[in-house]
Amino acid sequence: MSDDVRALTVRQPWAALIAAGIKPVENRSWSLPAGFGGPLLIHAGLRDDADGWRSLRAGRSLRAAGSGTVGGSAAVREALEGVEVVYGAVVAVAGKVTCHRDTGCCADLWGEPGAWHWLLEELTALPEPIPAPGHQGLWRPEPDVTSAALAGPQGVG
Ligand SMILES: [Zn+2]
Repeated sequence: MSDDVRALTVRQPWAALIAAGIKPVENRSWSLPAGFGGPLLIHAGLRDDADGWRSLRAGRSLRAAGSGTVGGSAAVREALEGVEVVYGAVVAVAGKVTCHRDTGCCADLWGEPGAWHWLLEELTALPEPIPAPGHQGLWRPEPDVTSAALAGPQGVG
């Protein structure tokens, strides 16, 4: 089972928004490898996306701020109030992930124009973040990280 698990490092605030179930689409310039459909661990990186934070805090539409996504409303900021923002840890598991190239779709789900949209489904936020170093691309987590991430009461697989 754990052989099929991969992880993706996502900068904050996006990792927290994913874990909170607010942002079900992750935008990437590359597609999922053929044959991989999850589980995917969502890992919060050590670095912030400063523009993303600025936009959320300003309450501006992120599209207007130039990131190409819709959001950043007061509702999003309010939702983030109750979300623990952590760094350098796995924060959520997507039991299933699919991917398609943008066709003007998913705009209301934070999908960006011109990107590959990764649809994160069967999402579970971990009750306790699991510290782990991040990596570029789609990476293979250590077995103990995978076990811990999938061990919850709503464990996947
Ligand atoms: Zn889409």
